[in-house]
Amino acid sequence: MRKPDKDTPVIVNLKNNDEEGRILALERYDILDAPEEASFENVMNLVQMVLKVPMCAISLVDRNRLCFKAQRGLGIDEVPRRNTLCDIAISQTVPLAVEDVFTDLRFADCALSLAQPRVRSYLGFPLRSPEGYNIGMLCVMDTVPRLFAETDYAVLNNFAKVIMNDLELRQAASKDHLTGTLSRRAWIEKSELEVERAARYKRPISLAVLDIDRFKYVNDTFGHPAGDRVIKYIAALCKKMIRKSDYCGRLGGEEFAIMMPETVLGDAYTVTERIRASFEKALIDVGAANLLSCTISVGVTERSRHELELAPFVRRADDALYQAKNDGRNRVEAA
Ligand code: GH3
Ligand code: MG
Ligand code: MG
Repeated sequence: MRKPDKDTPVIVNLKNNDEEGRILALERYDILDAPEEASFENVMNLVQMVLKVPMCAISLVDRNRLCFKAQRGLGIDEVPRRNTLCDIAISQTVPLAVEDVFTDLRFADCALSLAQPRVRSYLGFPLRSPEGYNIGMLCVMDTVPRLFAETDYAVLNNFAKVIMNDLELRQAASKDHLTGTLSRRAWIEKSELEVERAARYKRPISLAVLDIDRFKYVNDTFGHPAGDRVIKYIAALCKKMIRKSDYCGRLGGEEFAIMMPETVLGDAYTVTERIRASFEKALIDVGAANLLSCTISVGVTERSRHELELAPFVRRADDALYQAKNDGRNRVEAA
């Protein structure tokens, strides 16, 4: 592996000039502000053990901050992005090695070097997504000048790949294969955290559960592949019509759930009513020159003050959905 030295011109990775694309790539992994995870902690343990460094981190470079997904020796979870070695490092295609921060003018203002933890030397490998975006760094740091060895490069390079592989697998497992929305399990996991957060900070949060009406008829009349197209259509419509902070999951068959953090019941009702009306108007191409029109029923509810868990919240939305079905379908029922 070639070590870049100080005279090597910084090769700017074109993909990483596309900051919006880079942020989207980072957000797709959905790992910012998530709780501690064992696989990343294990990587930190191994990196620290093998390279014998006082500090190491898996940093994710968000819009304005550096989030440490896992770290050893830094004692912080995040820092402002400006004037950090990781921020400089993600714009390169090569790993960044700094033997001594204080003799390298490029890093004169580095925040983590001027004060605690006084980073003096640094070696970082970019965490690169398959599309070529550097979402963060796997890095090791020392409080004294240090010339990193070939084996240090090789170890970090391999662990950076292990981390990205883990993230890719996780992303694939959290997606429903037919619709690309969250799988049932991923939706539930994420929602448990969201409900907990809303309860802790006393913030509003609403939930809609929706189910396609008379869907068996679609399958029986036009075939299963036609049914699949209808399922895909409603999933795409939901994704298009919800806000960025809302998220949709496929709970099963032709049933979906939309979680809407920071949303009161009235607004949640408006959003889901818009989805219902739009779906009713759509003519869905299900192949063989068949254009189909379908409807959905929806149960929508806001978390009540005493509800600290997801299960009763979902049950209430389900009850409202049942009510909507009983009241004639193609309607939104608020609980
Ligand atoms: P209702 O208005 O009461 O909801 O009636 P319904 O016919 O939609 O009833 P129900 O929800 O019980 O029917 C769901 C059907 O969805 C049954 C199942 O065979 C079908 N289904 C489940 N998963 C899939 C899938 O992935 N693709 C297709 N095409 N059909 C599916
Ligand atoms: Mg149904
Ligand atoms: Mg159903």
